[in-house]
Amino acid sequence: MKQTFQPIAPPARLLMGPGPINADPRVLRAMSAQLVGQYDPWMTRAMDETQALYRQVFKTANEQTMLVDGTSRAGIEAALVSLIEPGDRVLVPIFGRFGHLLREIAERAGAEVHVIETDWGQVFPLRAIEEAITRVRPKVLAVVHGDTSTTVAQPLDGLGEICAREGVLFYTDVTASIGGNEFPTDDLGLDAVTAGLQKCLGGPSGSSPVTFSQKAVDVIYGRKSVEAGIRGEGDVAAADPIRSNYFDLAMIFDYWGPKRLNHHTEATTMLYGARECARLLVEEGIDDAVARHELHGRAMLEGVRGLGLDVFGDTSHKMNNVVAVVIPDGIDGDGARSALLDDFGIEIGTSFGPLHGKVWRIGTMGYNARKDAVLTTLSALESVLRRGGVSVTAGGGVGAAYDVYDDVVSPAPAPVVTESLDAGSAR
Ligand SMILES: *Cc1c(COP(=O)(O)O)cnc(C)c1O
Repeated sequence: MKQTFQPIAPPARLLMGPGPINADPRVLRAMSAQLVGQYDPWMTRAMDETQALYRQVFKTANEQTMLVDGTSRAGIEAALVSLIEPGDRVLVPIFGRFGHLLREIAERAGAEVHVIETDWGQVFPLRAIEEAITRVRPKVLAVVHGDTSTTVAQPLDGLGEICAREGVLFYTDVTASIGGNEFPTDDLGLDAVTAGLQKCLGGPSGSSPVTFSQKAVDVIYGRKSVEAGIRGEGDVAAADPIRSNYFDLAMIFDYWGPKRLNHHTEATTMLYGARECARLLVEEGIDDAVARHELHGRAMLEGVRGLGLDVFGDTSHKMNNVVAVVIPDGIDGDGARSALLDDFGIEIGTSFGPLHGKVWRIGTMGYNARKDAVLTTLSALESVLRRGGVSVTAGGGVGAAYDVYDDVVSPAPAPVVTESLDAGSAR
């Protein structure tokens, strides 16, 4: 039976949850460009440019910086399955949902996983992680940087030196934090970093920017195995190859590198999108983008407090780009979220695990880290809460956010230079 459907025409939404967020229109435009062949010189140049752009985004000199096709967890899985051989010890400090994910992926890669845990909303002191490293002696330390499930970011300063001293590979997942929070890969001494586009980078999910230090690259190339169909002179089949073909980083490096050794067909449209995300960020300036996230995140934080609501977690370690709001007594959290969506077209986030039903998560990230998005969300939230019978401070949300914005000393506007049309005759 023939079935026909309407063309895609999504409703207008303002996505103010913990991701995905509305993609920057420039990213969407880049993604509507026509395909070219995988080895077309134009395409390989676009790949090289994408690598150069992401070195800037990650603040790294790492040669092996590229995209893994798939959502953020594709990058995580590629990093872990390529670094870990079955039986290797891995240490995972868990402070939220994504720490549990790292443990799960490392276990599936055959690692002997050791974890330390802290309450959701808290982070680890450096010495707790150092103590676990010296006790466990892992091959890899795998730690989430910013965990959207709890809104806090684990400070990573000092861990790089400890890992280097102890001979540990240092990996982190920066999907939620990169672009919106300070993150200098090389200064932090990281060996492997993976990300995604759908948070502060302002793109859709589906591509995972990744970067690897020479130390990590040596470990990964040490496990290299070339597929029979494309094996050349001197190429070998490893006895115990990386346990995934798609996520075999040794092959992915050779595909992105000068050898252009055939692996997957690059997801061209996602590459266009990822390249534009990085171009936008570099054009704005990475540090300016972080400052923008800090400003709008602070306006949202003060705004929800101004409404009389409580904020969850250790706010001294809160990421710039997301806040967890304690759902006030007397209102159905999911009902309020539905009202925001149905009546205002605004999406905010629910929560997982121990926080489910207790907090909403509101993001201010990427394209939506903007004053109008913050004020509109606070205003709509006030209306929904009031209608739901919660007593809120009238105008308190928008007012507190305005106070944050009013305090910002905006840079003096650049002088406008107008070329007079009749400059010649005036002289
Ligand atoms: C949002 C988020 C992800 C998302 O992973 P996807 O595969 O893109 O869904 C991964 N890690 C962290 C820390 C996140 O906050």
